[in-house]
Amino acid sequence: MIDFSLSELQLAMQQLARTFARNELAPVAAQYDRDPAFPGDLIGKAHAAGLMNLTCPAAYGGQGLDMVTAAVITEELTAGCVALAGMIGINSLACAPILVAGTEAQKQRFLTPLNAAGKTAAFCLTEKEAGSDAGSLTTRAELDGDHYVLNGRKRFITNGSYADLYTVFATLDPARRTAGITGFIVPRSTPGLSVGKVEDKMGQRALNVAEVILQDVRVPVENRLGEEGEGFRIAMLSLDEGRVNIAACAVGVARAAFEAALAYAKERVQFGKPIGTQQAVAFMLAEMAAAIDSARLLAWHAAWLGDQGRPFGREAAQAKFYATDVAMRVTTDAVQIHGGNGYTRDYPVEKYMRDAKLMQIYEGTNQINRLVAGSGLMR
Ligand SMILES: Cc1cc2nc3c(=O)[nH]c(=O)nc-3n(C[C@H](O)[C@H](O)[C@H](O)COP(=O)(O)OP(=O)(O)OC[C@H]3O[C@@H](n4cnc5c(N)ncnc54)[C@H](O)[C@@H]3O)c2cc1C
Repeated sequence: MIDFSLSELQLAMQQLARTFARNELAPVAAQYDRDPAFPGDLIGKAHAAGLMNLTCPAAYGGQGLDMVTAAVITEELTAGCVALAGMIGINSLACAPILVAGTEAQKQRFLTPLNAAGKTAAFCLTEKEAGSDAGSLTTRAELDGDHYVLNGRKRFITNGSYADLYTVFATLDPARRTAGITGFIVPRSTPGLSVGKVEDKMGQRALNVAEVILQDVRVPVENRLGEEGEGFRIAMLSLDEGRVNIAACAVGVARAAFEAALAYAKERVQFGKPIGTQQAVAFMLAEMAAAIDSARLLAWHAAWLGDQGRPFGREAAQAKFYATDVAMRVTTDAVQIHGGNGYTRDYPVEKYMRDAKLMQIYEGTNQINRLVAGSGLMR
């Protein structure tokens, strides 16, 4: 009934991603953390290795993998550096609205060339006054002949500075709340689209996060995603897969921190023996391992449900809040096990702890994900 073994393809992709993370991401993670820059060469290498656009169908230039395999790969990449892996993996969220609601022509026209060239996209929902309450967004879309005219400012947009394509959510009428929200595909070259403030962040510093400004941006009607008023539903469906992805990211960061803590606990000697032989430290390590294993199972289960074509919104939300809370706890404990060394930049664990914090906030804060999971239970 239950088989936890990975297929040959999954094992091969896991090994590929693990090697890529070890050779390409981990060695430069601290440098990008200190001096954030666009990791164009790493994105190019990941693209060449087949580690981008994991769940996008092969018909549009993606890898055509299932969500479980994508979770396995994502755990490996994020164990190397979650911020760099986020820049490599951003298309999975940013292009999801096109896969969820795009026409065949839109998928061919926008996804195929983007993926063939190894270019990247951005998902533009959040605004200054519309974060958790995304339904209150005020970026306007007004129909003018055969175009919509977009005006507004999107905040906290991952890859906002560098994207070639933007999936943008705007409202036809703010008074209609979620019923007025409509999705659009906006190429970078569209006049009136510009980049504003770039955020200076606590962690995941290699993840570019910027304001995207839309000023009289004319978007042809054929770039609308789905029907008018369907945008909120499209955004939420896109986030379901995104949340499984974040759960896998959290497992990757937590595992990296755990492995560092375990190695340190074996090698650091105090009171004449390795600190890991002290029961208090061994118990911490045992709790960390159990939490990581349970987070991984929640992520894989949500991914598996999605792969079966079954509803998985509640399970995605539960995996997201649980796994990211685990990552926060495990990375904090990894710093603790490292003692004073853990608090310095000579060791990687303080970065894991800063990086983990963000995962409790984006793609719906963990409070909002608990609301989603809770309302799923009451349905
Ligand atoms: C680095 C980074 C990258 C991001 N990338 C993207 C992106 O690519 N695209 C995009 O569209 N957005 C992105 N976001 C935005 C992100 O999704 C929002 O920050 C998040 O949804 C929270 O919104 P907010 O920051 O406005 O917080 P707020 O909504 O103001 O929340 C503040 C606090 O109040 C709590 N709260 C709010 N409402 C409730 C409630 N009903 N019940 C209980 N608690 C509540 C929250 O949980 C939180 O603790 C990103 C954010 C960051 C920081």
